[in-house]
Amino acid sequence: MSKLLIFTAPSGAGKTTITRHLLKTFDFLAFSVSATTRDPRPHEEEGVHYYFLSKKAFKKKIKTKEFVEWEEVYEDQYYGTLKSEVERLWKKDKHILFDIDVEGAKEVKKEYGDQALAIFINPPSKEVLIERLKSRKTEDEKSLKKRIKKATKELKYANKFDKILVNDVLEVALKDAEKLVLDFVNQKES
Ligand code: ADP
Ligand code: 5GP
Repeated sequence: MSKLLIFTAPSGAGKTTITRHLLKTFDFLAFSVSATTRDPRPHEEEGVHYYFLSKKAFKKKIKTKEFVEWEEVYEDQYYGTLKSEVERLWKKDKHILFDIDVEGAKEVKKEYGDQALAIFINPPSKEVLIERLKSRKTEDEKSLKKRIKKATKELKYANKFDKILVNDVLEVALKDAEKLVLDFVNQKES
């Protein structure tokens, strides 16, 4: 049976870095490409990093119930997991890897129960998180502020998830992430 591995954390905690590593390491994983209304970053490709939608198109899909979950993650910026995406990956017989925000992760976990493992990536501290976000240089001042504000709230949710993965020294976090994935996909169904 295909399983779901949900990685969640405040922006800047290392979800992208860790999930990319896992996708490179394990052939049996496939990335759930979310839909979003935010603009693509320079290196981002349609259908690879996100399905980039206009707000109008996104709202239409909400109405026609095409999402497993969706959130207005930041003011006026919508993100969501399409049902068609989960089905697409299931057909490929892959375990599915999600990189979604805290609210979305709770929704997917609720929907799929024991078939899903929800992992919260914790930065060593809020200060380090802010430093990492700044040094990534992807956000303007306004976007940075939005992300820091939301991160402050989200950091309090760590213990609501199945596992906490501390991302301090990257090499250690990557090894810990590999182990979490292997243990979960090899776990016998009860
Ligand atoms: P997220 O996807 O959660 O927003 P990223 O994976 O983009 O986070 O990481 C945010 C920034 O921090 C990136 O520039 C990334 O290279 C860097 N980073 C990630 N993990 C570490 C780490 N353990 N130590 C130092 N820098 C890190
Ligand atoms: P970014 O703009 O940095 O790519 O993502 C911003 C936030 O949106 C991250 O916390 C990311 O995990 C979250 N996100 C990405 N896709 C989805 C999704 O499909 N649903 C939800 N709820 N959040 C998502």
